[in-house]
Amino acid sequence: MTATPRTYWLEHAWLGAHVEPGVAVEVRDGRVTAVRPDTPAPPPGAEVLRGLTLPGLANAHSHAFHRALRSTVQVGSGTFWTWREVMYATAGRLTPDTYHSLARATYAEMALAGITTVGEFHYVHHAPGGTPYADPNAMGEALIEAAAEAGVRITLLDTAYLSSGFGQPPTTHQLRFSDGDADAWAQRCSVLKERDHARIGAAIHSVRAVPAEQLATVARWAEERRAPLHVHLSEQTAENDACREAHGCTPAQLLALHGVLGPRTTGVHNTHLTAEDIALIGGSGTGTCMCPTTERDLADGIGPAAALQNEGSPLSLGSDSHAVIDLLEEARAMELNERLRTRTRGHWTAAALLRAATADGHAALGWDDTGRIEAGARADLTTIGLDSVRTAGPLPGLGAETAVFAATAADVRHTVVAGRHVVRDGAHTLVPDVPGALAQAVEALRA
Ligand SMILES: [Zn+2]
Repeated sequence: MTATPRTYWLEHAWLGAHVEPGVAVEVRDGRVTAVRPDTPAPPPGAEVLRGLTLPGLANAHSHAFHRALRSTVQVGSGTFWTWREVMYATAGRLTPDTYHSLARATYAEMALAGITTVGEFHYVHHAPGGTPYADPNAMGEALIEAAAEAGVRITLLDTAYLSSGFGQPPTTHQLRFSDGDADAWAQRCSVLKERDHARIGAAIHSVRAVPAEQLATVARWAEERRAPLHVHLSEQTAENDACREAHGCTPAQLLALHGVLGPRTTGVHNTHLTAEDIALIGGSGTGTCMCPTTERDLADGIGPAAALQNEGSPLSLGSDSHAVIDLLEEARAMELNERLRTRTRGHWTAAALLRAATADGHAALGWDDTGRIEAGARADLTTIGLDSVRTAGPLPGLGAETAVFAATAADVRHTVVAGRHVVRDGAHTLVPDVPGALAQAVEALRA
């Protein structure tokens, strides 16, 4: 955090609705104190950010350990359910130390991709077999520490994961995810402390993983703390079928019945919904986190993001399984998926897609004062180079369209979190060799 005031000069800045050339941003104690457009040249002593500067990007859905699966899971065929077996095998090998190393490297990759806040949907709580560690939150603490070392903010969405299906106990692989019941989950989570860079939120893994009569316990825990509450929702049709069989209703209806839906709740994926589900989710102000690169990677299907938003559901974006980590790709994929499905173009403007990747993503993670370049907001900035082979040559004023529809994570030049350069000129300032750290952490988890 910068104790002394500092001025950043943004060659181009996205100020929420449009791109302004020449903007000075003053920062003190990690927050923006003033934004001055019409500043054609850098003021003396200003830190210059060439390119297009956006508010920091929010990755609203992450499972850090899935980074170890990249490429490995691309061999062969199958479905979500066969992919899950490979994922469980990796989860089974994690320890607090190996998870810390992998998460630190993965979050450093995120910082290089311009991500300033990660929402970690965390359920690998205990040792294999389900025995708690000496510190029952050793795994969550490892993730919070990893985010600090990688220079990003984290919302630890501590996840209740208690059953393998409706009326079924956890499988062997899932024992380390489970606290036994929702009261024990709440007791463990209540010990976790928030810090400058870390918020604590709650998650329900899915309606498969938390018995219906215990859903309200998790919802109440989040409500009492005004904390974000996330839930995987209708990612697979098999979940819908099993829910109907067990409860005679859809997963969204079951969540509504038990008080889970609401403005601080985010449904992740929201893929296979009925028209009534969409009205329930939108009407309650429940958010939707789309993870398009994962949803296509896992052959999930295309969720009705446009219809959900029309009904009142704010949209956020996540890289989820980390098949790739690129929030710009997530943003454009949401629009491009909708084009493929409808055979029409222009469902979201670049500005609307950037809002999902910034302000609305942060709000979904409980960082309401983050994700905007304005006085009072946290000083989190992401600068996209406009001079790469991908981004050179846009018409003046079309920087946002270039960033969303042509740039990739490789075009991120600077990432500033709380007024501190975490990435400068494409290099991480805290983790010197991010590819090396990733390779080492993934290697340590090989069978
Ligand atoms: Zn997920």
